Amino acid sequence: MEDLDKTIAELKIRLSEKGLKAVIIPHISPDGDAAGSCSALSEVLFRCGIQRQILTCDFMPEYLRFLKNIPETISYQERAEECKCLIADADLIFMLDHNTVKREGDLAPWVSAAKADRIIIDHHPEPDCQQIVISDTRVSSTCELLYQVITRIWGREMITVDVANALYTGINTDTGGLSHNSSRPQTYRIIADLLELGLDKAFVHRQIYQMNHLSRLRLIGNALLNKLQVSSSYPVAIIPITLEELERYNYKDGDLEGLVNIPLSIHNVCVSVQITERRERVKLSFRSKGNIPVNEWAREWFNGGGHLNAAGGQMQLPLEEVVRKVWETVPLFFDLLKNKGLV
Ligand code: 5GP
Ligand code: MN
Repeated sequence: MEDLDKTIAELKIRLSEKGLKAVIIPHISPDGDAAGSCSALSEVLFRCGIQRQILTCDFMPEYLRFLKNIPETISYQERAEECKCLIADADLIFMLDHNTVKREGDLAPWVSAAKADRIIIDHHPEPDCQQIVISDTRVSSTCELLYQVITRIWGREMITVDVANALYTGINTDTGGLSHNSSRPQTYRIIADLLELGLDKAFVHRQIYQMNHLSRLRLIGNALLNKLQVSSSYPVAIIPITLEELERYNYKDGDLEGLVNIPLSIHNVCVSVQITERRERVKLSFRSKGNIPVNEWAREWFNGGGHLNAAGGQMQLPLEEVVRKVWETVPLFFDLLKNKGLV
Protein backbone atom coordinates (compact mmCIF):
# COMPACT_ATOMS: atom_id res chain seq x y z
CA MET A 1 0.00 0.00 0.00
CA GLU A 2 2.82 2.36 0.94
CA ASP A 3 4.53 1.46 -2.31
CA LEU A 4 1.38 2.38 -4.18
CA ASP A 5 1.24 5.78 -2.43
CA LYS A 6 4.88 6.37 -3.34
CA THR A 7 4.37 5.45 -6.98
CA ILE A 8 1.29 7.63 -7.29
CA ALA A 9 3.26 10.51 -5.75
CA GLU A 10 6.00 9.91 -8.32
CA LEU A 11 3.46 10.06 -11.14
CA LYS A 12 2.04 13.27 -9.70
CA ILE A 13 5.46 14.93 -9.91
CA ARG A 14 5.99 13.67 -13.48
CA LEU A 15 2.57 15.03 -14.49
CA SER A 16 3.31 18.49 -13.12
CA GLU A 17 5.80 19.16 -15.93
CA LYS A 18 4.72 21.61 -18.60
CA GLY A 19 3.82 20.77 -22.20
CA LEU A 20 3.52 17.01 -21.76
CA LYS A 21 2.25 14.80 -24.57
CA ALA A 22 0.66 11.52 -23.58
CA VAL A 23 -0.73 8.48 -25.33
CA ILE A 24 -3.11 6.06 -23.66
CA ILE A 25 -3.25 2.40 -24.73
CA PRO A 26 -5.69 -0.36 -23.68
CA HIS A 27 -5.09 -4.07 -24.22
CA ILE A 28 -5.91 -5.83 -27.50
CA SER A 29 -9.70 -6.43 -27.87
CA PRO A 30 -10.58 -3.74 -25.32
CA ASP A 31 -13.28 -4.64 -22.79
CA GLY A 32 -15.29 -2.40 -20.44
CA ASP A 33 -12.43 -1.99 -17.98
CA ALA A 34 -9.85 -1.20 -20.66
CA ALA A 35 -12.10 1.28 -22.50
CA GLY A 36 -13.51 2.73 -19.26
CA SER A 37 -10.07 3.43 -17.84
CA CYS A 38 -8.84 4.94 -21.14
CA SER A 39 -11.94 7.15 -21.33
CA ALA A 40 -11.61 8.38 -17.74
CA LEU A 41 -7.88 9.05 -17.89
CA SER A 42 -8.17 10.78 -21.25
CA GLU A 43 -10.86 13.10 -19.89
CA VAL A 44 -8.88 13.95 -16.76
CA LEU A 45 -5.66 14.66 -18.70
CA PHE A 46 -7.63 16.86 -21.10
CA ARG A 47 -9.11 18.81 -18.19
CA CYS A 48 -5.58 19.35 -16.84
CA GLY A 49 -4.39 20.70 -20.17
CA ILE A 50 -2.22 17.69 -21.01
CA GLN A 51 -2.23 16.69 -24.70
CA ARG A 52 -3.40 13.11 -24.98
CA GLN A 53 -4.61 10.54 -27.48
CA ILE A 54 -6.04 7.04 -27.07
CA LEU A 55 -4.55 4.45 -29.47
CA THR A 56 -5.61 0.84 -30.06
CA CYS A 57 -3.95 -1.96 -31.99
CA ASP A 58 -7.41 -3.09 -33.11
CA PHE A 59 -10.86 -1.56 -32.41
CA MET A 60 -13.03 -0.26 -29.60
CA PRO A 61 -16.27 -2.28 -29.66
CA GLU A 62 -19.45 -0.50 -30.66
CA TYR A 63 -21.16 -1.00 -27.27
CA LEU A 64 -18.43 1.03 -25.53
CA ARG A 65 -18.53 4.02 -27.87
CA PHE A 66 -20.91 5.81 -25.51
CA LEU A 67 -17.90 6.50 -23.27
CA LYS A 68 -16.41 9.98 -23.56
CA ASN A 69 -13.35 10.17 -25.87
CA ILE A 70 -13.70 6.55 -27.02
CA PRO A 71 -15.09 7.39 -30.50
CA GLU A 72 -11.96 9.51 -31.13
CA THR A 73 -9.63 6.55 -30.53
CA ILE A 74 -7.08 6.04 -33.32
CA SER A 75 -6.68 2.45 -34.51
CA TYR A 76 -3.35 1.12 -35.76
CA GLN A 77 -5.29 -0.92 -38.30
CA GLU A 78 -6.65 2.25 -39.91
CA ARG A 79 -4.02 4.89 -39.22
CA ALA A 80 -0.72 3.12 -38.53
CA GLU A 81 1.58 6.04 -39.47
CA GLU A 82 -0.21 8.43 -37.13
CA CYS A 83 0.02 5.90 -34.30
CA LYS A 84 3.77 5.49 -34.85
CA CYS A 85 4.33 9.30 -34.83
CA LEU A 86 2.24 9.85 -31.72
CA ILE A 87 4.08 7.07 -29.87
CA ALA A 88 7.52 8.29 -30.99
CA ASP A 89 6.61 11.85 -30.00
CA ALA A 90 5.04 11.09 -26.61
CA ASP A 91 6.58 11.96 -23.25
CA LEU A 92 4.32 9.52 -21.43
CA ILE A 93 2.70 6.26 -22.52
CA PHE A 94 -0.07 5.02 -20.27
CA MET A 95 -0.64 1.25 -20.47
CA LEU A 96 -4.07 0.60 -19.00
CA ASP A 97 -5.63 -2.69 -17.87
CA HIS A 98 -2.70 -4.83 -19.04
CA ASN A 99 0.59 -5.85 -17.48
CA THR A 100 2.85 -6.20 -20.50
CA VAL A 101 3.47 -4.48 -23.86
CA LYS A 102 2.88 -7.90 -25.42
CA ARG A 103 -0.86 -7.31 -24.91
CA GLU A 104 -0.70 -4.28 -27.24
CA GLY A 105 -0.64 -6.28 -30.49
CA ASP A 106 0.89 -4.37 -33.41
CA LEU A 107 1.57 -1.30 -31.24
CA ALA A 108 3.99 -3.27 -29.03
CA PRO A 109 7.22 -2.83 -31.04
CA TRP A 110 6.67 0.96 -31.34
CA VAL A 111 5.85 1.30 -27.66
CA SER A 112 8.92 -0.72 -26.70
CA ALA A 113 11.17 1.48 -28.85
CA ALA A 114 9.67 4.80 -27.67
CA LYS A 115 11.64 7.37 -25.67
CA ALA A 116 8.63 8.06 -23.45
CA ASP A 117 8.23 6.91 -19.86
CA ARG A 118 5.81 3.99 -19.74
CA ILE A 119 3.25 3.98 -16.96
CA ILE A 120 1.32 0.82 -16.14
CA ILE A 121 -1.98 1.20 -14.28
CA ASP A 122 -3.36 -2.31 -13.92
CA HIS A 123 -4.58 -5.16 -11.73
CA HIS A 124 -3.03 -8.24 -13.40
CA PRO A 125 -0.31 -10.22 -11.63
CA GLU A 126 3.38 -9.89 -12.57
CA PRO A 127 3.53 -6.55 -14.38
CA ASP A 128 6.43 -5.78 -16.75
CA CYS A 129 9.20 -3.69 -15.30
CA GLN A 130 8.45 -0.14 -16.54
CA GLN A 131 9.32 3.39 -15.43
CA ILE A 132 6.18 3.74 -13.30
CA VAL A 133 4.11 0.71 -12.25
CA ILE A 134 0.85 1.28 -10.39
CA SER A 135 -0.39 -2.26 -9.95
CA ASP A 136 -2.69 -3.85 -7.39
CA THR A 137 -4.16 -7.31 -7.93
CA ARG A 138 -6.62 -6.95 -5.03
CA VAL A 139 -8.82 -4.35 -6.71
CA SER A 140 -11.86 -5.33 -8.78
CA SER A 141 -10.65 -3.54 -11.88
CA THR A 142 -8.23 -1.06 -13.37
CA CYS A 143 -11.02 1.52 -13.09
CA GLU A 144 -11.17 1.04 -9.31
CA LEU A 145 -7.41 1.60 -9.10
CA LEU A 146 -7.61 4.58 -11.46
CA TYR A 147 -10.22 6.19 -9.18
CA GLN A 148 -7.56 6.11 -6.44
CA VAL A 149 -4.91 7.52 -8.76
CA ILE A 150 -7.16 10.37 -9.94
CA THR A 151 -8.42 11.32 -6.48
CA ARG A 152 -4.93 11.26 -4.98
CA ILE A 153 -3.28 13.25 -7.74
CA TRP A 154 -6.00 15.77 -8.57
CA GLY A 155 -8.75 15.35 -5.96
CA ARG A 156 -12.31 14.15 -6.43
CA GLU A 157 -13.37 17.42 -8.12
CA MET A 158 -11.72 16.04 -11.23
CA ILE A 159 -14.37 13.31 -11.45
CA THR A 160 -17.09 14.68 -13.70
CA VAL A 161 -20.20 12.70 -14.67
CA ASP A 162 -18.40 11.38 -17.78
CA VAL A 163 -15.42 10.23 -15.71
CA ALA A 164 -17.71 8.62 -13.09
CA ASN A 165 -19.67 6.80 -15.82
CA ALA A 166 -16.45 5.52 -17.38
CA LEU A 167 -14.97 4.32 -14.07
CA TYR A 168 -18.21 2.58 -13.11
CA THR A 169 -18.31 0.84 -16.51
CA GLY A 170 -14.97 -0.84 -15.76
CA ILE A 171 -15.87 -1.77 -12.18
CA ASN A 172 -19.22 -3.21 -13.25
CA THR A 173 -18.08 -5.16 -16.30
CA ASP A 174 -14.86 -6.58 -14.81
CA THR A 175 -16.84 -8.06 -11.91
CA GLY A 176 -19.63 -9.52 -14.04
CA GLY A 177 -22.08 -6.94 -12.68
CA LEU A 178 -20.55 -7.03 -9.17
CA SER A 179 -20.80 -10.80 -8.92
CA HIS A 180 -17.15 -11.92 -8.80
CA ASN A 181 -13.95 -10.26 -7.60
CA SER A 182 -16.01 -7.65 -5.77
CA SER A 183 -16.14 -8.56 -2.07
CA ARG A 184 -14.02 -5.70 -0.75
CA PRO A 185 -15.96 -2.94 0.98
CA GLN A 186 -13.67 -0.40 -0.67
CA THR A 187 -15.15 -1.18 -4.10
CA TYR A 188 -18.60 -0.13 -2.84
CA ARG A 189 -17.24 2.99 -1.12
CA ILE A 190 -15.85 4.02 -4.48
CA ILE A 191 -19.16 3.30 -6.23
CA ALA A 192 -20.95 5.30 -3.52
CA ASP A 193 -18.61 8.21 -4.12
CA LEU A 194 -19.09 7.96 -7.88
CA LEU A 195 -22.86 8.17 -7.29
CA GLU A 196 -22.36 11.29 -5.18
CA LEU A 197 -20.28 12.73 -7.99
CA GLY A 198 -23.10 12.25 -10.49
CA LEU A 199 -22.65 8.71 -11.85
CA ASP A 200 -25.65 7.94 -14.08
CA LYS A 201 -25.92 4.25 -13.24
CA ALA A 202 -29.17 3.65 -15.13
CA PHE A 203 -27.67 5.20 -18.30
CA VAL A 204 -24.53 3.05 -18.04
CA HIS A 205 -26.56 -0.14 -17.51
CA ARG A 206 -28.73 0.66 -20.48
CA GLN A 207 -25.69 1.28 -22.68
CA ILE A 208 -23.86 -1.88 -21.62
CA TYR A 209 -26.67 -4.39 -21.16
CA GLN A 210 -29.71 -3.19 -23.07
CA MET A 211 -28.44 -2.22 -26.52
CA ASN A 212 -28.20 -5.71 -28.05
CA HIS A 213 -29.09 -6.53 -31.62
CA LEU A 214 -31.27 -9.59 -32.23
CA SER A 215 -28.35 -11.23 -34.09
CA ARG A 216 -26.26 -11.19 -30.91
CA LEU A 217 -28.93 -13.05 -28.95
CA ARG A 218 -29.23 -15.58 -31.78
CA LEU A 219 -25.42 -16.09 -31.76
CA ILE A 220 -25.44 -16.71 -28.02
CA GLY A 221 -28.61 -18.84 -28.24
CA ASN A 222 -27.00 -21.01 -30.90
CA ALA A 223 -23.83 -21.38 -28.82
CA LEU A 224 -25.76 -22.54 -25.74
CA LEU A 225 -28.17 -24.79 -27.61
CA ASN A 226 -25.89 -26.38 -30.19
CA LYS A 227 -22.27 -25.84 -29.18
CA LEU A 228 -21.95 -26.14 -25.39
CA GLN A 229 -20.30 -29.38 -24.26
CA VAL A 230 -20.11 -30.49 -20.62
CA SER A 231 -17.63 -33.16 -19.50
CA SER A 232 -19.05 -36.22 -17.78
CA SER A 233 -15.86 -36.75 -15.72
CA TYR A 234 -14.70 -33.24 -14.82
CA PRO A 235 -16.57 -30.07 -13.80
CA VAL A 236 -15.67 -28.49 -17.14
CA ALA A 237 -17.74 -26.99 -19.95
CA ILE A 238 -16.49 -25.77 -23.32
CA ILE A 239 -18.04 -23.72 -26.12
CA PRO A 240 -16.26 -23.82 -29.49
CA ILE A 241 -17.34 -21.15 -31.98
CA THR A 242 -16.44 -21.19 -35.67
CA LEU A 243 -15.75 -18.27 -37.98
CA GLU A 244 -18.69 -19.43 -40.10
CA GLU A 245 -21.03 -19.01 -37.10
CA LEU A 246 -19.67 -15.54 -36.39
CA GLU A 247 -20.39 -14.58 -39.98
CA ARG A 248 -23.82 -16.27 -40.00
CA TYR A 249 -24.90 -14.18 -36.99
CA ASN A 250 -23.32 -10.95 -38.24
CA TYR A 251 -20.77 -10.84 -35.41
CA LYS A 252 -19.55 -7.45 -34.17
CA ASP A 253 -16.81 -6.79 -31.56
CA GLY A 254 -18.22 -7.39 -28.11
CA ASP A 255 -21.09 -9.67 -29.22
CA LEU A 256 -19.63 -12.65 -27.35
CA GLU A 257 -18.98 -10.65 -24.15
CA GLY A 258 -20.24 -12.60 -21.14
CA LEU A 259 -21.02 -15.87 -22.96
CA VAL A 260 -18.14 -17.75 -21.30
CA ASN A 261 -19.59 -17.00 -17.84
CA ILE A 262 -22.97 -18.61 -18.54
CA PRO A 263 -21.89 -22.29 -18.19
CA LEU A 264 -20.60 -21.47 -14.68
CA SER A 265 -24.24 -21.10 -13.67
CA ILE A 266 -24.60 -24.90 -14.07
CA HIS A 267 -24.40 -26.43 -10.56
CA ASN A 268 -21.64 -28.94 -11.33
CA VAL A 269 -19.52 -26.80 -13.68
CA CYS A 270 -16.55 -24.96 -12.13
CA VAL A 271 -14.53 -24.18 -15.24
CA SER A 272 -15.77 -22.79 -18.55
CA VAL A 273 -13.72 -22.37 -21.72
CA GLN A 274 -14.79 -20.51 -24.84
CA ILE A 275 -12.75 -21.33 -27.93
CA THR A 276 -13.33 -18.87 -30.73
CA GLU A 277 -12.01 -19.21 -34.26
CA ARG A 278 -10.60 -15.95 -35.66
CA ARG A 279 -9.08 -15.33 -39.06
CA GLU A 280 -5.46 -15.42 -37.93
CA ARG A 281 -5.64 -17.46 -34.68
CA VAL A 282 -7.89 -19.21 -32.21
CA LYS A 283 -8.72 -17.24 -29.06
CA LEU A 284 -9.42 -18.96 -25.74
CA SER A 285 -11.26 -17.53 -22.75
CA PHE A 286 -11.16 -19.32 -19.41
CA ARG A 287 -13.42 -18.68 -16.41
CA SER A 288 -13.72 -20.48 -13.07
CA LYS A 289 -15.65 -20.50 -9.82
CA GLY A 290 -13.93 -20.51 -6.42
CA ASN A 291 -10.19 -21.03 -6.11
CA ILE A 292 -9.44 -22.79 -9.41
CA PRO A 293 -6.56 -20.87 -11.06
CA VAL A 294 -7.46 -20.96 -14.75
CA ASN A 295 -4.61 -18.54 -15.45
CA GLU A 296 -2.25 -21.49 -14.85
CA TRP A 297 -4.07 -23.61 -17.43
CA ALA A 298 -3.89 -20.71 -19.94
CA ARG A 299 -0.23 -20.03 -19.21
CA GLU A 300 0.96 -23.64 -19.24
CA TRP A 301 -0.71 -24.84 -22.47
CA PHE A 302 -2.25 -21.92 -24.38
CA ASN A 303 0.30 -19.06 -24.57
CA GLY A 304 -1.80 -16.98 -22.22
CA GLY A 305 -2.36 -15.87 -18.67
CA GLY A 306 -4.61 -13.56 -16.68
CA HIS A 307 -6.36 -13.70 -13.34
CA LEU A 308 -7.24 -16.64 -11.06
CA ASN A 309 -10.89 -16.73 -12.23
CA ALA A 310 -10.60 -15.11 -15.69
CA ALA A 311 -7.82 -15.85 -18.13
CA GLY A 312 -7.20 -16.03 -21.85
CA GLY A 313 -4.86 -17.50 -24.40
CA GLN A 314 -4.34 -18.04 -28.10
CA MET A 315 -3.17 -20.74 -30.52
CA GLN A 316 -2.23 -20.73 -34.19
CA LEU A 317 -3.83 -24.11 -34.91
CA PRO A 318 -7.12 -25.12 -36.51
CA LEU A 319 -10.12 -24.86 -34.19
CA GLU A 320 -10.67 -28.64 -33.94
CA GLU A 321 -7.06 -29.14 -32.85
CA VAL A 322 -7.38 -26.49 -30.16
CA VAL A 323 -10.61 -28.11 -28.93
CA ARG A 324 -8.81 -31.47 -28.82
CA LYS A 325 -5.94 -29.90 -26.89
CA VAL A 326 -8.34 -28.38 -24.36
CA TRP A 327 -9.92 -31.78 -23.67
CA GLU A 328 -6.47 -33.44 -23.57
CA THR A 329 -5.17 -30.99 -21.00
CA VAL A 330 -8.23 -31.17 -18.70
CA PRO A 331 -6.88 -34.22 -16.79
CA LEU A 332 -3.40 -32.67 -16.66
CA PHE A 333 -4.77 -29.42 -15.27
CA PHE A 334 -6.84 -31.26 -12.65
CA ASP A 335 -3.79 -33.35 -11.64
CA LEU A 336 -1.95 -30.07 -11.14
CA LEU A 337 -4.84 -28.81 -8.98
CA LYS A 338 -4.85 -32.05 -6.98
CA ASN A 339 -1.12 -31.70 -6.30
CA LYS A 340 -1.77 -28.20 -4.96
CA GLY A 341 -4.62 -29.51 -2.78
CA LEU A 342 -7.16 -27.36 -4.59
CA VAL A 343 -9.56 -30.17 -5.59
P1 5GP B 1 -10.88 -12.56 -21.98
O1 5GP B 1 -11.33 -13.98 -21.83
O2 5GP B 1 -11.91 -11.61 -21.49
O3 5GP B 1 -10.32 -12.26 -23.32
O4 5GP B 1 -9.66 -12.39 -21.01
C1 5GP B 1 -9.77 -12.56 -19.64
C2 5GP B 1 -8.48 -12.13 -18.99
O5 5GP B 1 -7.45 -13.01 -19.39
C3 5GP B 1 -8.03 -10.75 -19.41
O6 5GP B 1 -8.45 -9.79 -18.49
C4 5GP B 1 -6.54 -10.87 -19.43
O7 5GP B 1 -6.08 -10.68 -18.12
C5 5GP B 1 -6.26 -12.32 -19.69
N1 5GP B 1 -5.88 -12.64 -21.07
C6 5GP B 1 -6.70 -12.78 -22.14
N2 5GP B 1 -6.02 -13.12 -23.23
C7 5GP B 1 -4.74 -13.21 -22.86
C8 5GP B 1 -3.51 -13.54 -23.55
O8 5GP B 1 -3.49 -13.85 -24.74
N3 5GP B 1 -2.36 -13.49 -22.80
C9 5GP B 1 -2.37 -13.19 -21.47
N4 5GP B 1 -1.21 -13.17 -20.81
N5 5GP B 1 -3.49 -12.88 -20.81
C10 5GP B 1 -4.65 -12.90 -21.47
MN1 MN C 1 -9.52 -5.29 -16.03
